[in-house]
Amino acid sequence: MTASNPVKLKPGDTIGILGGGQLGRMLAMAAGRLGLRCQVFSPDPDSPAFDVVQNATCAEYADVEALELFAGDVDVVTYEFENVPAATAMTLAARRPVLPNHKILETTQDRLAEKDFVTGLGIATARYADVSSVASLRAGAAAIGLPAVLKTRRFGYDGKGQAIIREGDDPAAVWADLETRSAILEGFVPFEREISVIAARGADGTVECFDVTENKHGDHILRVSHAPAAIPESLAAQARDIATRIATALNYIGVLAVEMFVVPGRDGPTLMVNEIAPRVHNSGHWTLDGASVSQFEQHIRAIAGWPLAKAIRHGQVTMTNLIGDDVLGYETWLTVPGATVHLYGKAVARPGRKMGHVTEVKPD
Ligand code: AMP
Repeated sequence: MTASNPVKLKPGDTIGILGGGQLGRMLAMAAGRLGLRCQVFSPDPDSPAFDVVQNATCAEYADVEALELFAGDVDVVTYEFENVPAATAMTLAARRPVLPNHKILETTQDRLAEKDFVTGLGIATARYADVSSVASLRAGAAAIGLPAVLKTRRFGYDGKGQAIIREGDDPAAVWADLETRSAILEGFVPFEREISVIAARGADGTVECFDVTENKHGDHILRVSHAPAAIPESLAAQARDIATRIATALNYIGVLAVEMFVVPGRDGPTLMVNEIAPRVHNSGHWTLDGASVSQFEQHIRAIAGWPLAKAIRHGQVTMTNLIGDDVLGYETWLTVPGATVHLYGKAVARPGRKMGHVTEVKPD
């Protein structure tokens, strides 16, 4: 894509989605409602997104021939997970527009680069230090103070690749357990709550944020989201402003999520950015039933070059994830008045696996 040749899809055109999980599935369903087709590329034959599209490519991300054929079948490429290999994105980008621009992944795939980028915008994060050895872990701990959170720079998710290091712990043992060569150490943030902003940025630079979401985690996995977050409007406005600045600075096209901590302070609560997800996000699932437009549709609109919608929230919304065996209760959820059940069609309910979610909307 160039400035003089922006993407402008028309109904009947095809979006290529890298990744076949529930996010790809819900993106494809949203695209279908707008008369757009999707082709999903995933190496996993059991991909939930394959069930809802007519055309699928089941191949490895390094399979250049399959990528070339896929590119030939689609009008634009997007992705539903942030760990798209750089070589995959580059192969596709040589043939078709990739949105959001794959260069963004260089920043968001690396926790250190991401923190440097966010703090470079003058936005607060936890204090952090680059760690690549036991010696630098000791130095980081001395500078930041303990407790602190040690995270692998790459490929961490849902708390994987993380360890808390406390006073009295042996840094050498914590470092060895993480089994990595590059990590960051973050000061432990005594947050009062966790929130996220789901923001969409269109090709024309317009940004639309959904109402701020409040998120409750268990075992590092999102369990429940509430919208709107129970925070003062002035803080919510700051949160939306942070997400808008990040999306704009990245020259982003599509939906992104910015996870933040609300930190208590003498002069009232303040915000710290924890993480950027360059994709639709679990904490935005409430928008499927709780708003006039969903995060999935906003993403499709953005990458199609269509106008973004102004989202109107329908009430107080709660989204409950069905994780692992939780999904066995789906029949009970089906009988709950006002509840909307979403099941992702995954055959095996492994512990910690996101199997579905339920939204409940109560009028304000
Ligand atoms: P992350 O993978 O960075 O999103 O971290 C997963 C979860 O771990 C977050 O949602 C927080 O609940 C917790 N966490 C991560 N980093 C910190 C931190 N620096 N201080 C306190 N809790 C954290």
